[in-house]
Amino acid sequence: MSAFDAIIIGAGQAGPFLAARLSAAGMTVALIERKLFGGTCVNTGCMPTKTLVASAYAAHLARRGRDFGVLVDGDVRVDMARVKARADKVSADARDSVERRLRRLAGCTVIQGHARFEGPDRLRVGDQLLIAPRIFINVGGRATIPPLPGIDTVPYLTNTSILALDRVPEHLVVVGGSYIGLEFAQMYRRFGAAVTIVERTPRLIAREDDEISAAIADILAAEGITVRTSAECITLTSHATGVSLGVNCRQGEPSIAGSHVLLAVGRRPNTDDLGLDRAGVATDPRGYITVDDELATNVDGIWALGDCNGRGAFTHTAYNDFEIVAANLLDGDHRRVSERVSGYALYIDPPLGRAGMTEREARERGRPLLVATRPMTHVGRAIEKDETLGMMKAVVDAETRKILGAAILGTGGDEAIHGILDAINAGLTCDRLQRAVPIHPTVSELIPTLLGDLKRASPGN
Ligand SMILES: Cc1cc2nc3c(=O)[nH]c(=O)nc-3n(C[C@H](O)[C@H](O)[C@H](O)COP(=O)(O)OP(=O)(O)OC[C@H]3O[C@@H](n4cnc5c(N)ncnc54)[C@H](O)[C@@H]3O)c2cc1C
Repeated sequence: MSAFDAIIIGAGQAGPFLAARLSAAGMTVALIERKLFGGTCVNTGCMPTKTLVASAYAAHLARRGRDFGVLVDGDVRVDMARVKARADKVSADARDSVERRLRRLAGCTVIQGHARFEGPDRLRVGDQLLIAPRIFINVGGRATIPPLPGIDTVPYLTNTSILALDRVPEHLVVVGGSYIGLEFAQMYRRFGAAVTIVERTPRLIAREDDEISAAIADILAAEGITVRTSAECITLTSHATGVSLGVNCRQGEPSIAGSHVLLAVGRRPNTDDLGLDRAGVATDPRGYITVDDELATNVDGIWALGDCNGRGAFTHTAYNDFEIVAANLLDGDHRRVSERVSGYALYIDPPLGRAGMTEREARERGRPLLVATRPMTHVGRAIEKDETLGMMKAVVDAETRKILGAAILGTGGDEAIHGILDAINAGLTCDRLQRAVPIHPTVSELIPTLLGDLKRASPGN
């Protein structure tokens, strides 16, 4: 049996940073990782996908060269093996760097293997038993495999296995019209595949406001991606060269024949094989570990950070969980998850940057609202770059004039949104932000102009 001051399960987006803080504070720490250092983001999530998105953008821009007066002789071709090698290298470099830094940490013991609780203060990894008065769970999640009829009879891809492709599929069918599915759909279309998105609900990315969903559907359709929404009964069968999907949509053909199928219908936490019952740690019905506002579980001395606690689903929320736990344990602070302002991006091109609430969420609070929208065709920087698809939107509390939320779907939207995200974090009113003097020519410079167009939202909308 080995005793430590703290044990961390998972080398994802919170664990390694926490290991560094705890060991710098003089604690002995064991960090357990069962697979790849860096977790989902580094190996099968953000990093490889954003590297692939960059290759897809290069292909798109090369095809559009003529629009900019740049002539490319011959066809633009995509060498998928090289595209893949580039993404593999970006992931491998980051993974190695995480592992190297962990192994160099004085006071931190890195253990490779699958951890399982044997009690509230102990874990087993293979034949080792580890005990500690503090245990931090950072086990992340994996792709959900939905129980669709026929699922066990056909080959399918997930966000992990699709990264092994070194040839462009003839026809990729993406099941799931949300963040992960849309990024893969657009990038593979740009790599040269025919792409169909099949979505169960009536619109893509249903969490966003209607006009944002509609603008995203238009962007994808303009690139020749087929979008099938309201596909209520999805079934899968094999055919000679791939997989057929039966889709009970309100419109269109009842079946789609694809060469490859990607399942992108959500994530589930890696908590089913952790032995949580042996420690008495509570989960919700979907398996997410129940935590309080400071990320403590119901068991004294056990915390849960990152995707596995269901309080966030992003790298930056997992990292923020580390900041909260470290500040409260080591700095005498009292930081809370509920203080976090929501922010995220969808990395299609043009990207969607989001801050705070959608209009629908703001309406649910029952307060009078001011709303403004502006098409990207009215943004000088977008015109200069000839990337004018998309729109900006801001939602403001009509009484306090505080900014509640915004969306920038347009070129540079993932960066420009931070002007508004920071303003929400600082509790600024729209009037204060309107007095800012932004840099010209940028997408951000239109934020004060957008706020100048705020109108009372009609209550029924
Ligand atoms: C395709 C895709 C694209 C994404 N793009 C973005 C993006 O652009 N921006 C963004 O912010 N987020 C993105 N995400 C989400 C992001 O990757 C996750 O939110 C983030 O990685 C969560 O970090 P984590 O630390 O909670 O878990 P993870 O990064 O999943 O790490 C958990 C670690 O725990 C290990 N582990 C699990 N169980 C055990 C066990 N029993 N014993 C030992 N080790 C264990 C795992 O092997 C893993 O290494 C994307 C996700 C996907 C799938």
